[in-house]
Amino acid sequence: MASGRKPARPLVFLGAPGAGKGTQARALAQHRGVPQIATGDMFRDHVARNTPLGQQAKAIVERGELVSDEIVSAMVAERIRQPDRAGGFILDGFPRTRTQAERLDEILAEAGFSSALAINLQVGYDNLIRRICGRRTCSVCGEIYNIFDRPPRVQGRCDRDGGELTARADDREEVVRKRLDTYEQQTKPLVEFYRQRGALLEVDGEQAPEELTRRLIPLVESAVGAGVERRA
Ligand code: AMP
Repeated sequence: MASGRKPARPLVFLGAPGAGKGTQARALAQHRGVPQIATGDMFRDHVARNTPLGQQAKAIVERGELVSDEIVSAMVAERIRQPDRAGGFILDGFPRTRTQAERLDEILAEAGFSSALAINLQVGYDNLIRRICGRRTCSVCGEIYNIFDRPPRVQGRCDRDGGELTARADDREEVVRKRLDTYEQQTKPLVEFYRQRGALLEVDGEQAPEELTRRLIPLVESAVGAGVERRA
C-alpha cells in the first residue's frame, strides 16, 4: 500500500439470490464511503456494451450458471488493484465458489489487505422468490426497488433520477430456480468456510431493508478488525 496506512478490512456479502446482497452492500458502501464491487453488475455491464467478455458471459448469466472462476477472479483482481481501493471495499456476489474464496485470499494478500469479513444474509425460500419477482433496478443509477416491499413513488421510475426501472433478464422463473440450485450447491458451503476461520457475521435478512441496514451498520463497524461470529 502506497500510503503506508493499513487498509480497511474488506467485506464480502454471502447469501442466496434475492437475499438483499446488492441492496445492503450498496447502503453499507455509501455509509462507509468505500466502493462496492458487484460482479453481477460488472457482467451485466459487459453484456450491455457487447464487449468480448460480455459475449462470452451472456449465455452463461442468462442460464443462471456461474461464469468460470478464472474469468471472474481476474476481473475482481483487476478492480482491487485500482488506487481508490486503499480505504477498503465491499464485494457483492464474489466469491461464489470455494476456488474463488481461495483465490480471493491470494488476491487480498498480494494487494496488502487483511482477509475478508463475510456477512451472510439469511432469507427463507418464499421471501427469496418474492424479492426476486418484485425486483426492479434503475437503468441509470442502479438503485434497487421492489414492487411489493419497496415500490418507487412513481410506477416504473426511479425516485432519485426518474430513470426507467427494469427487471433483470435472469429474474425469470425457470432461471431463478437454476440460480437457487447453483447457490445451494456451490456458494452455500462458503458460509462454513468463513465460519471456520471466525470471519462470519450471520444476519437475519428477513427484516425490512432499511431496518436491516440500520442494524447492520453498527454490527459491521464493531466487527471490522476483529475475529467475530455474531447474529443480528
Ligand atoms: P448477481 O447479480 O450477483 O446475482 O449475478 C448475476 C449472474 O452473474 C450470476 O447468476 C452469474 O451468472 C454471474 N456471476 C456473478 N458473480 C459471479 C461469480 N462470482 N462467479 C461466477 N459467476 C458470477
